Amino acid sequence: MHVTMDTLVSLSKRRGFIFQSSEIYGGTGSCWDYGPLGVELKQNIKRIWWRDYIQRRPDMVGLDASILMHPTVWKASGHVDNFTDPMVDCLECRHRFRADKVDEMPWVHYCAATKGNKFTIPAGEPCSHCGERRTLCPDCGKGDLTAPRQFNLMFKTFMGPVEEDAALTYLRPETAQGIFVNFDNVAQSMRRKLPFGIGQIGKAFRNEITPGNFIFRTREFEQMEIEYFVNPRDTVEGKPADEYWHERWIADSLAWFQRYGLRAENLRLREHEKDELAHYAKRTADIEYRFPIGWSELMGIANRTDFDLKQHAKFSGKALTYFDEERKEHVVPYVIEPSAGVDRALLAFLADAYQEEEVRGEKRVVLRFHPELAPVKVAVLPLLKKREDIVRTAHAVRDTLSRHWPVVYDDTAAIGRLYRRQDEVGTPYCVTVDVQTVGDSDKGESADGKVTIRDRDSMEQARVPIDALPPVFLDLLNGGPWSAVASKYPAAKT
Ligand code: ATP
Repeated sequence: MHVTMDTLVSLSKRRGFIFQSSEIYGGTGSCWDYGPLGVELKQNIKRIWWRDYIQRRPDMVGLDASILMHPTVWKASGHVDNFTDPMVDCLECRHRFRADKVDEMPWVHYCAATKGNKFTIPAGEPCSHCGERRTLCPDCGKGDLTAPRQFNLMFKTFMGPVEEDAALTYLRPETAQGIFVNFDNVAQSMRRKLPFGIGQIGKAFRNEITPGNFIFRTREFEQMEIEYFVNPRDTVEGKPADEYWHERWIADSLAWFQRYGLRAENLRLREHEKDELAHYAKRTADIEYRFPIGWSELMGIANRTDFDLKQHAKFSGKALTYFDEERKEHVVPYVIEPSAGVDRALLAFLADAYQEEEVRGEKRVVLRFHPELAPVKVAVLPLLKKREDIVRTAHAVRDTLSRHWPVVYDDTAAIGRLYRRQDEVGTPYCVTVDVQTVGDSDKGESADGKVTIRDRDSMEQARVPIDALPPVFLDLLNGGPWSAVASKYPAAKT
């Protein structure tokens, strides 16, 4: 089943993942705020990326460069001259569109064949009455569109108290340039030998002409970028080093998204055509995901050659080279750039995790997040909130488990409702404290000190001693199978 964007937007709002920015003022249209569960999910994505790519690899280091940079950086990088999209304006309603995307929108049409009746026609289709295709403004259906003009996507701002050209700079439109300008600092201070990479996570800003589709295209977003420097003179497994590492990064990136839950059938690779390639790029491949809006770019992996380091060397006057000890010569490294959007990754993980199923005649919505991504790992639920000893024990369990993981306590509904709520936000496990856990002295029943763990995906339940919870969850949350718990501990009645 493919989930719609509307379903994700409404679930995100209802359950505290993502809210529209400045909503009480009518919203901004292109900015979104991550709520209590959204911020956990987003941090989990960034944390596993940082851990897998920066901390676990001996050939990688991290960086956190500033968002505001010297304005010449953007001249050297080519962004001042070339970071543009073609824009067209409606002469009637003044709305603006990206020229290359205008045919991907539904369009308003006053049809001469039906006495000028107004229709809204799906993107790219002709009018079914008169057969005409769109030529006018898609929004008002009346105005001519201007010829395309190039519009620079960088946000301008001023450093310091004077708003004059000398103080003009930009909010970075990508994190990559912060890495290039620090190439020598990192290589020297960390005594790096090629090949090595520098990774960075941070905000980027683009004044997109037509933002939209929820968090897919926004004007403020986050990137996880790597610049992987290789010696172009080297060969690995019979291939030039840059081509070898480009292949490796494509395969690693695809595997990474699959490891954390994206299904293979929802991922594909798209090679950039020759005429689409940036002039400096030797090869670029996009990983596309089948988003609710259709196949679209999730990340790009480019072979940028030695373009960036050479440009910065030219504009700064500083040599950005590497001394090849073996060949006794200076070389400008080539760079492979795997560049992913945090927000797009989050949207893909959310869409892929979303499932609706029928359980005992009722609809169950479940986010089947990988445990590493789930915003809450365990929810502790008291079966009876009137029993003080049950509530106290549940709080104590939450307290113990929260030393290791994000854990919540909830007693605001009956148990069935509480389970459904946790399913809907993707919590992998619930722990229920009941009368048997604490015993019932009135009935002469003694406490068994055990709680019920419920597995989100199978909905199976097992009865586990409280003391065993930390090691059991350590195993489960590190990817251990539920079946190991189910075979070791007795099943609980559902
Ligand atoms: P697009 O073609 O969608 O505009 P792009 O090719 O310009 O994207 P890159 O410059 O390659 O994007 O940026 C790398 C990654 O940053 C993209 O793959 C995407 O995940 C993310 N990204 C880029 N622009 C945006 C945006 N406006 N909103 C959210 N994420 C973005």
